[in-house]
Parts: sequence; structure tokens; C-alpha cells
Amino acid sequence: MASVIVVGGGLAGLAATMSLARRGHAVTLLEARPRLGGRASSFTDPATGTLVDACQHVSMGCCTALHGLCETLGIRGLLEPQKRLWFRTPDGRESVFAADPWPAPFHLGRALLGAHYLTAPEKLRIAYGMARLVLESPDADPPLEKWLRKHHQTQRTIDRFWSVVLVSALNETVANAGLKYARKVFVDGFLRSRDGHTVHVPSVPLGRFYGDELRDWMLRHGVVTRLNCGVREVRSGGVTLRDGEVLHAETVILAVPFERVLDLLPQAIRELPFFSRIGDLTPSPITSVHLWLDREILNHPHAVLVDSLGHWVFTRGEVSPGRFYLQVVVSASRELKSLGRDEIQTRIVEDLKRLYPAMREARVLQAKVVTEHTASYSVVPGVDALRPTQRTPIPGLILAGDYTQTGWPATMEGAVRSGQLAADALT
Ligand SMILES: Cc1cc2nc3c(=O)[nH]c(=O)nc-3n(C[C@H](O)[C@H](O)[C@H](O)COP(=O)(O)OP(=O)(O)OC[C@H]3O[C@@H](n4cnc5c(N)ncnc54)[C@H](O)[C@@H]3O)c2cc1C
Repeated sequence: MASVIVVGGGLAGLAATMSLARRGHAVTLLEARPRLGGRASSFTDPATGTLVDACQHVSMGCCTALHGLCETLGIRGLLEPQKRLWFRTPDGRESVFAADPWPAPFHLGRALLGAHYLTAPEKLRIAYGMARLVLESPDADPPLEKWLRKHHQTQRTIDRFWSVVLVSALNETVANAGLKYARKVFVDGFLRSRDGHTVHVPSVPLGRFYGDELRDWMLRHGVVTRLNCGVREVRSGGVTLRDGEVLHAETVILAVPFERVLDLLPQAIRELPFFSRIGDLTPSPITSVHLWLDREILNHPHAVLVDSLGHWVFTRGEVSPGRFYLQVVVSASRELKSLGRDEIQTRIVEDLKRLYPAMREARVLQAKVVTEHTASYSVVPGVDALRPTQRTPIPGLILAGDYTQTGWPATMEGAVRSGQLAADALT
């Protein structure tokens, strides 16, 4: 069996490591940071000493590879399926989105009909748009907004329906995204199966996912994990660490984020068109606003926010005596780029006051604004032409990461699939 070095301990690197270790390969996993999980992980809040997610992550029922990986580790129970989603508008009204016990795609029909923020003609328009979406080729990737307008979608249906679902799912605006992955979200999530749409929210901070169960699994399968172990250069046949140490292996799987890949490759390799195209992927940011309040303001564990600056709000309830934690997520948050953290916090708090009357009385005890500027690559029209396969033209060098060709947008599911495809490319 081959010796393999996996560079990067995010979900892609972990999935590659687990797939290969299961098949008996000798795997060494190198991670630059002191923790595993990459973008899907947590930090310790110094005020309370508790783990807080840099940004709340959710998955959907259609994320079968991610859920399979959690199953393998025995931590599937940490992902809680949400039987209901609450959609809230600034007038304080809420619609509950829940499936009926009917076969797909009819299981969500009544939920759409019940949306208080859409008129009956708008619902008809949306149903027509969905029907046209299904008829499109899965590979067609024209500009999404143009496609929606061509199929009779108005600014209101775009703002109050298509954007509400897609901006969070794709981390891109309807104005910038292509059709292909928008279609995938609706077909895989809403139309193909009864459970695809079910949102799964971790019941614990993400850092918990990389705890005892993962450590035990790695030990049992002979994986050598080295944290605080940044790689400076990757070649066919090995890597050079930042401290100058050289490690050899028959195969290297490079599982770092897209914006780091080219820096780690020797010039002659990164100039090959196969690799250089990665440099044309563009980033899309996500901002999360963490608030610790003196009271609970939500009446549900989460809400999807319509006509608001934030897209989702999640509460974890009373995390320590008298301190209630909630997080507001703003996807594709480019419009916040020119604002300082205080201004972003102020705008989100104002937004919450409009949405939740209890917020008007609440005191903010602590706040933190986190913007991940390269949260994901942007799913612009035709983006797949820039995404490399896992197998590369360089013998002994394989790529993994959510940005590689997986058929998925930048998600935990895409990352896990990329790792598994990378392992397949080796074997
Ligand atoms: C704010 C935010 C919110 C998100 N929300 C969701 C969500 O709700 N649902 C969802 O499915 N997805 C979400 N995502 C996307 C998801 O987090 C990513 O798609 C996924 O985690 C990417 O995994 P990866 O392994 O490809 O990359 P990463 O997680 O980036 O892992 C790469 C790893 O490589 C390491 N590394 C980098 N350079 C080196 C080096 N030189 N040497 C050694 N190691 C190195 C990094 O430290 C990192 O651990 C979100 C992302 C962000 C940023």
C-alpha cells in the first residue's frame, strides 16, 4: 500500500485521510493550525472559555457524503434534523415551512402556499419557475438573474423567494451566480426526494466534531496527525515544511483552500494551465455577527430572515447564567466590506429590533463580528471550467478541496466528496 501525505485537515483532507486509511494506506495528515476542521470549525470565546463556531454551519438531507462520514465516526447524532423552518419578516410575522407526508415534489407544495410574504400570483410564478428549472439541462450555466427574468420572475419573487434560498445555499447573490448550482439546490434539495430539503443543524459547536471519536478513529487506523505543521512547498514525492523539514511519500494529496494552492506549488507546476486556472476563481465572503444578550429574543432555535440584512439567525439559548447567545449570518456579504465591525454590529442589532420586539429591551453584553473574506469561491456562470479534477497531470500529486470538481458548490458536502474522490484517484 502507498504512503500518502495529506496536506490540510479540513473536511476534504479528513475525508481523503479516512478513505485511504480504511483501504490500508499509511497516511500522514499535516495541518498548519493547532486544530482540525478548517473553515468548518470553532474558536474559544475568551470571556466564557466556551467553544463558539466561527460561523454556524448547516447541512441538508441531500448531503449524504457528509452524513456518511459522521456516521462512520459515530457522531451522526450531533446533527439535528429540523422538522420545521421559520421564515420571519420585519413586521414580526412568521411562516412555518414543513413538509407534508406526500411524495416529492408535492411534499413542499403546502409549505410554499403558506408563505405569508408572497402573494398568490407570486406563488404561481415561482411554481412556474421551478418547473422550468427542472426542464433545464443540469450542465446549463447561464447567468441566473437573466434566466429568472426570462422565465417571468419579478424583482419581488427574486428578492423574497429565489434569493432567500440561494444566497445562503450558494454564498452568492442571484445577480452574480450561474444557473447550474441554483438548479442543483432546488432539484436535489426540494424536488428529488422527501428529505433532501431537511436542514440539519449541529447541536454542538463544530469543534466538537473533531474530538475524541475522530482521534480514536485515526489512532485505530494508524493515521499520523501532525497539527501546527504548515507546509511550505509540495512536490511530487513529498513536501517541505515551513521549518525546513522534508517529508517523503509516494503520493501527496493537497487539500488546502483554493487561494492557497498555487503558493505551495513550484513555479513550473503552477504555471501549467491545469493549475493556473485555479487562480481565476474569485472569493465570496460570509459575515457572522455573534451576540451575547441578557435575554432570549427568539421563540424558535433559528429563523430565515426575509427582507433583512441578515439571512439566518440561530440561538443557542442560555450558554452561561444570564448570557444568551445568538448568531446572525450574512452570506455573500460584499456590501458590508466597506463598513467597520461596529457599524456592521449596529446594523444587525437594528435589524433584529425590527424583527423581534424583545430585542428592543435586550442589552448586548458582548459582541463579535467575524468576516471570512474567502469563505468560498464564487459560483459565477461557467465556474466549473476553472475547477480542477482531483487527479492532476503530475504523478503522485492529487488535489482535494471544495473547489475541485465535485458537482457540488462550496459546502461541507462538496469538501467531503472531494476528499473521497481524491482517494479514488489514488487507488
Ligand atoms: C463562514 C463560513 C460559513 C459556511 N457555512 C457553511 C454551511 O452552512 N454549510 C456548508 O455546507 N458549508 C459552509 N461553508 C463552507 C464549508 O466550510 C467549506 O466548503 C468546507 O469546510 C471546506 O473544506 P475544505 O477541506 O475544502 O477546506 P478548508 O476547510 O479550508 O480546509 C483546508 C485546511 O488546510 C489547512 N492549510 C492551509 N494551508 C496549509 C499549509 N500550508 N499546510 C498545512 N495545512 C494548511 C487549513 O488550515 C485548513 O485546515 C461555510 C464556510 C465559511 C467560511
